[in-house]
Amino acid sequence: MDFLTPVGWDEALELKASAPDALPITGGTDVMVELNLTARRPTALLDLTRIAAARQWSAEDGFVRLGAGVSYRRVIDEVGALLPGLAMAARTVGSPQIRNRGTVGGNLGAASPAGDSHPPLLATGAEVEAASVRGVRRIPIDDFFTGVKRNALAPDELITAVVVPISRGPQQFSKIGPRNAMVIAVCSFALALDPQREVIGTGIGSAAPTPIRAAKAEAFLTGELRERDLWHRRGPLPESVVEHFAGLVAAAAAPIDDVRGTAAYRRHALSVLARRTVNWAWDDYWTTGRAAA
Ligand SMILES: Cc1cc2nc3c(=O)[nH]c(=O)nc-3n(C[C@H](O)[C@H](O)[C@H](O)COP(=O)(O)OP(=O)(O)OC[C@H]3O[C@@H](n4cnc5c(N)ncnc54)[C@H](O)[C@@H]3O)c2cc1C
Repeated sequence: MDFLTPVGWDEALELKASAPDALPITGGTDVMVELNLTARRPTALLDLTRIAAARQWSAEDGFVRLGAGVSYRRVIDEVGALLPGLAMAARTVGSPQIRNRGTVGGNLGAASPAGDSHPPLLATGAEVEAASVRGVRRIPIDDFFTGVKRNALAPDELITAVVVPISRGPQQFSKIGPRNAMVIAVCSFALALDPQREVIGTGIGSAAPTPIRAAKAEAFLTGELRERDLWHRRGPLPESVVEHFAGLVAAAAAPIDDVRGTAAYRRHALSVLARRTVNWAWDDYWTTGRAAA
């Protein structure tokens, strides 16, 4: 097996173009498990860890551009104040060792329905920056996940970064598993309030073939908040609104029965997560007087 070691993106993209079967490796926390436990033997590994630019992040014009090689640990420590939902999700990933090596770029590359970074990226409307020798493009996160562990990257493309709107209001992430740490989600849910645009974003993990948004739940809550003028008037959410929102979130899922849980349990759990997170986020908004437009 060849081990390719580019030191910059240009070199990495040239290598990927000439050897599209080369398997990218960043933190290796998915790739090494696959190599060790399965018969997968790629012809080459494309090691992206020597690319300094991949480990950089920047904040500009209301967005964070998070290099594909930024670890979960650094998301939590360095970017948490700007992207609180993503940082909450990062705190639940694996163990300290996994958070030190694992990256959001690798999570997107793996495109597992259970990837913990995906729901907050969906809830905030992030974009995946994909590059090849042909150029750079931004893929809206809604179009990125194309099937179970499949994504919209072309064979010659690499993820160079993910571009995430800086938080404009409270965000939440919640995940269910059989214990508190080292757990792949039975299901997960992310919520982002945007008081400036007066919209709600959601993301559901581990309850459909791909991570998905609960579009009807978003539209319902966005409409209720506007009609009731709650963004400006401020005050608690009516219980009936919370219940209906939670029901729409559960209905958006398309879960299966598997070793981690039944479809029925996942739907029920999602409605609980939705109810809790919307109460936490909304209470944070109206009781702390965070800025509305
Ligand atoms: C013990 C353990 C616990 C875990 N717990 C969790 C958890 O709680 N939540 C969770 O979501 N995940 C968990 N994982 C899975 C894994 O840690 C995450 O998916 C992590 O985000 C992968 O990042 P990485 O940098 O290690 O990716 P890698 O293993 O390097 O790569 C993952 C995939 O992405 C591709 N890839 C990597 N970089 C790029 C790139 N720049 N462009 C295109 N493709 C790329 C690789 O080819 C591979 O297919 C766990 C794994 C282990 C071993």
